[in-house]
Amino acid sequence: EALNSIIDIKGNIRVFCRVGPFLSRNRRKNINPISTSLDKMVVKLSGGAKEFEFDKLFQQESSQEDIFTEVEPILTSALDGHNVCVLAYGQTGTGKTYTMDGVNDNPGVVPRALEKLFSHASRDKSSSLTFSMSMLEVYMGNLRDLLAPKPNCRMRETSARCNLNIQTDPKGLVEIEGLMEVQIPDLGKAKWWYNKGRRSRSTSWTNVNETSSRSHCLTRISIVRKWDLDAKTESSKLWMVDLGGSERLLKTGAIGQTLDEGRAINLSLSALGDVIAALRRKRGHVPYRNSKLTQILKDSLCDGSKVLMLVHVSPCEEDVAETVCSLSFAKRAR
Ligand code: ADP
Ligand code: MG
Repeated sequence: EALNSIIDIKGNIRVFCRVGPFLSRNRRKNINPISTSLDKMVVKLSGGAKEFEFDKLFQQESSQEDIFTEVEPILTSALDGHNVCVLAYGQTGTGKTYTMDGVNDNPGVVPRALEKLFSHASRDKSSSLTFSMSMLEVYMGNLRDLLAPKPNCRMRETSARCNLNIQTDPKGLVEIEGLMEVQIPDLGKAKWWYNKGRRSRSTSWTNVNETSSRSHCLTRISIVRKWDLDAKTESSKLWMVDLGGSERLLKTGAIGQTLDEGRAINLSLSALGDVIAALRRKRGHVPYRNSKLTQILKDSLCDGSKVLMLVHVSPCEEDVAETVCSLSFAKRAR
């Protein structure tokens, strides 16, 4: 009995780790502080070594396909009626966007997931599946619709219009008021909307790389399954989230706006960590209210939902302190 429940908990929250690329800014310090063995990871510190374990570990040479193969089972859970969250966590530059979006000739989790959903739908003989999509960005506690025809606001304005309201209905389901939800009848349309959302994310910024690392980008696929036999329907949500950079502020010497952005991200990431840790403990109060991010994901970060945390770390010596922070976050979730 006890053993079963442990297995069950592990099944509902999984933590994978992916080691990112060497970036040019780290050219001078290409010493690898990380050694890995199967699903254990050892980070070398000047005072000794720290060990971390994961459900899966992806080394630098791992491919997008390798990652997706391990992500795929959670899509099946979404199709089976579970609410699901796939979250990319880590310091800026460690490959979160690469993992989730990918690049043109090497797509990431989201485009591959879309492909899989439609291929499942076409093979399903006993029910019909329909999908719809929403995309939004959370920046400094504001929500911005990425699929709405005109940008609802400029992110640097604090206009009420970009503050979409989050409601919870009597069944406990989260509703984001006014958020655009588009039907995606086929893969072509799905990718078209997804690319539109991605473009909309980047064009709103004065400095894309700098600012996008301080916002969360969330893609939601709503799944409705209608059984042929009795016309019963079942709904679920699949969230795929590219989280804001987890780096701490001191190192970057941030001031003013940048400091506020960094604080907002840090607060929401620690709120996320608190929620996942509470779910992991399987008892007591789950503190959803502390951030917009956790309010949005409330009905998909709960009992009965499945969570996959993809923690990204840098292989570089000079990032080792951040790496240890990210791995500690992962450890708390696991
Ligand atoms: P993040 O979103 O965490 O800030 P990015 O995904 O933007 O990081 O990655 C930083 C850079 O490294 C990008 O140019 C990206 O294409 C590249 N990159 C990231 N991960 C990989 C990888 N596994 N293989 C090859 N290039 C990668
Ligand atoms: Mg990114």
